[in-house]
Amino acid sequence: MEKKGFSFEIAHTGPGLARAGSMATPHGVIQTPCFIPVGTKATVKSVLPETMKALGSQILLANAYHLYLQPGADVLDEAGGLSKFMNWPGPTVTDSGGFQVLSLGVGFKKVLAMDSNTFRADDVVAHKKDRLAHVDDEGVTFKSHIDGSMHRFTPEISMQVQHQIGADIMFAFDECTTLHNTRKYQVSALERTSAWAIRCLDEHKRLTDSRKEKPYQALFGVIQGAQYEDLRRLAAQDLGSMQSSGISFDGFGIGGALDKDALGTIIGWVNQELPEDKPKHLLGIGAPEDLFVGVENGVDTFDCVLPSRIARTSSLYTMKGRFNVSNAPYRRAFEPIDDKCDCYTCANYTRAYLHHLFRGKEILAATLSTIHNERFIVRLVDQMRQALINGTFADLKEEFLGQYTFNKVGSH
Ligand SMILES: [Zn+2]
Repeated sequence: MEKKGFSFEIAHTGPGLARAGSMATPHGVIQTPCFIPVGTKATVKSVLPETMKALGSQILLANAYHLYLQPGADVLDEAGGLSKFMNWPGPTVTDSGGFQVLSLGVGFKKVLAMDSNTFRADDVVAHKKDRLAHVDDEGVTFKSHIDGSMHRFTPEISMQVQHQIGADIMFAFDECTTLHNTRKYQVSALERTSAWAIRCLDEHKRLTDSRKEKPYQALFGVIQGAQYEDLRRLAAQDLGSMQSSGISFDGFGIGGALDKDALGTIIGWVNQELPEDKPKHLLGIGAPEDLFVGVENGVDTFDCVLPSRIARTSSLYTMKGRFNVSNAPYRRAFEPIDDKCDCYTCANYTRAYLHHLFRGKEILAATLSTIHNERFIVRLVDQMRQALINGTFADLKEEFLGQYTFNKVGSH
């Protein structure tokens, strides 16, 4: 199968596993490492695509699960694909829907969160009476979080949905476990994910061949294995060398709940095993301190809903850490959110104005704060890229983390 328009080139390596490169897709080239803002339902909430472009976004990610439920993947196909449908001319990514069917579907979002101190038992993950998603060896049956209707995702259906949505990069359908599942369960989930990965490659090949008129879509395999070194390495070796229907994965995602303290170690295990010349994506991680850890351990791209989600609750990034602009002290703070920031919001508005908008429940609050937070994170990863090229990554990290205060627990 011809790889029409997808390639990855590494221009610079080190320190450690870090690298800077570029990824070419049918909708444009991305410089890596880079941060991918999330537009869950084919929109970064409250911000125009042109504005996302202006603030430096090279690529956007949408969620297959959400678009499958609404408006339906066939609608996006008919519209000419995700990029055209949402008027974002650049590259796009979809996740497989696996994480959402198991988190939103099951209704145990909090258990998939990063704090593992509270629970550790399979039955906590899904109490029978609350269980809205059921995993079997063939796929996942789940209840829509919108109207309670029943649906089923299999690897084949996930591939069909993602081909219809038409993003430049897609992910294989995997079973996303939590840190609270037992090791025994992690092993069986990993076996399922491996079998599903082969089925994704087969279906991807079939769809690519039968939809020759469409731009090539790259497929990334997803590495699970929770916090276990042997399982993570095994999964990376397995998917890294996997071939079926004469094709292999174009890149890889590192998935699953990841304890903040073990993040770098786990990414390191995985990236030591995966083929060096293929792109690595870290799924759902976006806190500044974690982005440094990801980059130095060989991650090329990140996605996270965090910058826009917290922006809408008036939580804003600065070089010194996050603060809540709705709080009383900012009522008369006639200064930008961050005087080091080059975004549209910081160039034109004050903390006092943002404070007023949030207090008054004005919708412009979401737009202006999202522009700032997305710019802050996109720019930070761009700065990391430049620092890798200049050989100053360690200095940037020291300088940034020296002044940036973060909450060690729950800062995701
Ligand atoms: Zn700003």
